[in-house]
Amino acid sequence: MEKEDRAYKAHCLVVPFPTQGHVNPMLQFSKRLQRKGLKVTLATTRSFRKLSSPPSTSIALETISDGYDEGGMAVAENIGDYLDRFREIGSRTLTELIEKLSDLGHKVHCIVYDAFMPWPLDVAKRFGIVGATFFTQSCAVDNIYYNVQQGLLKVPPSTDEADEILVPGVRVPLRASDMPSFVSVPSQYPAFLRMVVDQFSNVDKADWIFCNTFYELEVEEADWMSKFWPLLRTIGPTIPSMYLDKRHEDDKEYGYSLFKPNSDACLKWLNERQKGSVAYVSFGSLAELGAEQMEELGWGLKNSNIYFLWVVREKEANKLPKGFAEAISEKGLVVSWCPQLEVLANEAVGCFVTHCGWNSTLEALSSGVPMVAVPQWTDQSTNAKYIMDVWKMGLRAQADEKGIVRREEIECCVREILEGERGKEITKNALKWKELAGKAADEGGSSDRNIDEFTAKLVQHANVHVAS
Ligand code: UDP
Repeated sequence: MEKEDRAYKAHCLVVPFPTQGHVNPMLQFSKRLQRKGLKVTLATTRSFRKLSSPPSTSIALETISDGYDEGGMAVAENIGDYLDRFREIGSRTLTELIEKLSDLGHKVHCIVYDAFMPWPLDVAKRFGIVGATFFTQSCAVDNIYYNVQQGLLKVPPSTDEADEILVPGVRVPLRASDMPSFVSVPSQYPAFLRMVVDQFSNVDKADWIFCNTFYELEVEEADWMSKFWPLLRTIGPTIPSMYLDKRHEDDKEYGYSLFKPNSDACLKWLNERQKGSVAYVSFGSLAELGAEQMEELGWGLKNSNIYFLWVVREKEANKLPKGFAEAISEKGLVVSWCPQLEVLANEAVGCFVTHCGWNSTLEALSSGVPMVAVPQWTDQSTNAKYIMDVWKMGLRAQADEKGIVRREEIECCVREILEGERGKEITKNALKWKELAGKAADEGGSSDRNIDEFTAKLVQHANVHVAS
């Protein structure tokens, strides 16, 4: 360790927002930086560290405090209070951590921080070190929030589904139902809206802007952002190498997990199925479906008569339709969590019924698995729009006037992808995106070059600093 530490070229402190879908992409990015010769320390909150099982990684792990060490966001009065306290206690404990690392001989040269919390940039500036903001959502979604922040897009833009909304930096016209929910129904999520808009509050002062996407996927969107911030770089997808460019055999593990996967059961079951015959169904780590939606989804899957692997988190299991387990017999497997990347990489999986979280979207894209989009909230509707109409690698299941996707619609979309004519075209496109994602991350690919450029400039900066 001593020897390795002395060999590093510069030191990055990476500070993610404390949810699984934010920590893991930044951990993957950390691994890529480390492979380029940087020392990386990842600082999660104490509460996140307590609640999750840590990955086995050579990245140094440290903690800061969000002011809620015994439970994190879940025990805060509301998200607004949480963010305010995190800013206050987080700034102080991040400062202490930088001082501690410096005392130990590991001077920090750069803070890479999640754009959901803009305050680490102030800490970086106080120490005179480089500040790099990391956007964890798509550039299209970032551009929507930026337009809101600039007052160029009113909130909500329209509530009439017939209206086409043109947003600068978004290449397709959007309907109200394609907008991020924080923008389309702001009264439901005032604190979240403030958080996503505040991502841009001090971004002009950031030295670098990283986006977890890849250039070929969002050319127009990334170019539009780059007009304002020339040091914006696409560095994704942030997925372990063995599921992407396959350059590093030891890089297979995804990272932190708040839930324990039923890995053996899932993979054994999938290995007994034929190629492209299974629908994998998951709504990520946070979404809570209503009982009626769960029921429609369940019976839709059953009625499709297609094999399915459905992740229903333990807390959600009480919403499974009555008599469901007996009714599906060997056609379906319901688990409480699974190793998603391994599942998507399994050749039995032919489609992914997803809530369109950005990580799940990137993972499906990088694995070449077509999607049935069933977005729930936050940026998922915009991701669904792009999946269907821009990247043409999936279908969006239409909800009824109550906002519920009915069983017939689920059945129809799954069958269309696995058995229909459109499905063949969609699967072809999905494989194209898989190839492009792998190339972006591979040596000399767009994301790899961007990471090289950042590393080289940071090392230069660190050397100048040592010399002066
Ligand atoms: N995931 C997993 N096993 C599951 C379901 C999800 O490992 O059974 C992982 C998935 O690979 C992804 C993350 O959980 O990396 C979900 O992130 P996403 O952004 O898609 O959604 P969120 O959970 O933030 O809503």
